[in-house]
Amino acid sequence: MYRKLLDLASRTLGDTLPQERASVLVEDKLRELSFNLWWNWHPQVLELFRQLDPAGWSETNHNPIALLKRFEPGALAARAAELSLENTISFHYRRLQEYLNGESSWCAIHAGGLQATPIAYFSAEFGLHESLPLYSGGLGVLAGDYLKSTSDLGLPVVGVGLFYATGYFRQHFDATGWQTEEYGHIDVAALPLRRPVGPDGAPIMVDVPCNGETLHAAVWVARIGRTLLLLLDSDVEANPPYLRELTARLYGGDEVTRIRQEVLLGIGGLRALRALEIRPAVMHLNEGHSAFAILERTRERLEEEGMSFDDALRETALQTVFTTHTPVEAGHDRFAPDLVERELGWLRAALRLEPERMMALGRVDPGDRHEPFCMTVLAIRGSRRRNGVSSLHGHVARQMWQRIWPGRDEEEVPIGHITNGVHVRSWLALSMNRIYDRYLGADWPARQSDCAAWRPIANVDDSELWETHEVLRRYLVEFVRRRAGRPELLDERALTLGFARRFATYKRGTILLTDLDRLAGILGDPARPVQIVFAGKAHPRDEAGKKLIQELIRIARDSRFERRIVFVEDYDINVARHLVQGVDVWINTPLRPMEACGTSGQKVVLNGGLNLSVLDGWWAEGYDGKNGFAIGDGMVHADPAVQWARDAESLYRQLEQQVVPLFYDREGAAPPRGWVERMKRSIMTLAWRYNADRMVADYVRHGYLAAGGRLSSA
Ligand SMILES: *Cc1c(COP(=O)(O)O)cnc(C)c1O
Repeated sequence: MYRKLLDLASRTLGDTLPQERASVLVEDKLRELSFNLWWNWHPQVLELFRQLDPAGWSETNHNPIALLKRFEPGALAARAAELSLENTISFHYRRLQEYLNGESSWCAIHAGGLQATPIAYFSAEFGLHESLPLYSGGLGVLAGDYLKSTSDLGLPVVGVGLFYATGYFRQHFDATGWQTEEYGHIDVAALPLRRPVGPDGAPIMVDVPCNGETLHAAVWVARIGRTLLLLLDSDVEANPPYLRELTARLYGGDEVTRIRQEVLLGIGGLRALRALEIRPAVMHLNEGHSAFAILERTRERLEEEGMSFDDALRETALQTVFTTHTPVEAGHDRFAPDLVERELGWLRAALRLEPERMMALGRVDPGDRHEPFCMTVLAIRGSRRRNGVSSLHGHVARQMWQRIWPGRDEEEVPIGHITNGVHVRSWLALSMNRIYDRYLGADWPARQSDCAAWRPIANVDDSELWETHEVLRRYLVEFVRRRAGRPELLDERALTLGFARRFATYKRGTILLTDLDRLAGILGDPARPVQIVFAGKAHPRDEAGKKLIQELIRIARDSRFERRIVFVEDYDINVARHLVQGVDVWINTPLRPMEACGTSGQKVVLNGGLNLSVLDGWWAEGYDGKNGFAIGDGMVHADPAVQWARDAESLYRQLEQQVVPLFYDREGAAPPRGWVERMKRSIMTLAWRYNADRMVADYVRHGYLAAGGRLSSA
């Protein structure tokens, strides 16, 4: 399969590199390295780019393509020679070629049957790197981490998403701490994207009916190691202005924009695969946004194989895997019947369905004529393997959607769970990576999902681990000071708490402010200082979320907390990387059970930080009593106000009685023994499970093998 995907990549993307390695110029090698996001999880390659132009590296937001463009023709080779980097460049170039062409992989051994035909992975957002802002938060970062792991494991996957011309917004604050949004324009020429061409040499385009006209979309391809990502872009000349705008913003616009984006993602996405001659064995829908792909695949079967609608839908469902990501109601798109008919009447006609029959596909109760069309319901009805993203969330999802199977007990509802994980080397600090290399053996990344591989963490020298972590904390403090332009902020040696995530109300970002006197007492002890770094965006239309941020900023500016509480502007993958690598404690305070999984705390584990979290999402299954700290006991009060008060009390008590004393329990200059022990226990008990390689392997075992195996003849 690799060969096929790779050949496809070189054929359609017009790679022009000469075959003879010896004749490849330094510039070409660097360009090739910059155009495959593989560099993103190979710190030595990152370092190589940085060395070429350290100032340019930060000014371009760590974007190697933009960085290379800053060199005049010919200057790049001269610069490489000046720094004696030619051998290093050739070395990494060869490593990339070997990575791309390697025959042995996890997939070849464990899922050989899946190598024949790829898996199509649909997602409305992909968070791969800060220079490619096609994500808003956890869902996108998860999709990005997933793609990187499929590449590492050798699983043939093609991601399908949308290209948003202005990306997601950049966050600023006005004088009152109110969030404002800035939408920049992404310079495509500075991104690792190429337009694939067809046999006739013309760039591949896809068409979808829209509003009585034809919506045209360009296709961009990004390479993430061995994995490909297709991105559809409506900003092409053939479209009228209002349709060119369609993909301008991620989660922007009204519900008409929304449904049209989803038509383009699901239906256009499948058509883009077709145009590239990719016939997926499995369709994996990451959240319901792309569920129209089910109807498009069904339509193809109807027309090509002459099946009845019911048979065609059943066949499609058998090859479809669906992951639902949230118990929050607003996270499930619902469209009014007349809107669905207006935008998808053409498809309904092609499927030979009556309007009510079409609507029933998106209704929990097919007979309820007032129920809107829900994308999650369509995804559930059109798939055979469905999962939530943690054990607890699986349970919640079964409850939530039980009514789709009237008469079935909750435990019989066919929705399972696969807990999310993070792409380890994208989030791991270089210095921690070195410790792992030395104590776990250099091949540890390939064994990262094996519990036994992490046992030698027990042997890591306490001082070495502690000192490494102290340096990472200092980097974080320096980063925050630099970003804020305020060198007086924070204290390099103080116990540092982090809280960063989307500011949705259920995440209760202000729970730490419940009792300001008590908080001041915790932070202000001169012998045992504590500080907090906050970050996060609110959705542009979420006034309540913006109020929470404003409240935090007001407190951060209060003289009692000045220098000890900081709110970092514009949370993105770059800010997240600094935070998860440098904090001592990561706080998460969702209203249980609204956090489906949460992944930022998993990134913290890898870097030696400890979690202090409500027993929700992944932490409800990961916490063992000694590998971090828990807020509350997992019980939920029916009244959210009571629950808030209880969790606030528990949070303060944990900080006062457990976290702060353990952190500052030291003899002389020695590291805090109890704390370091907990760091080790956290890594040992959690890292092997909450990584994306394990997650992808679970999808292979519990989803793709069954779905793909059945349809390998299709
Ligand atoms: C990891 C990550 C998230 C998701 O973290 P949660 O724990 O689910 O909030 C969101 N945004 C960014 C930038 C991330 O890196």
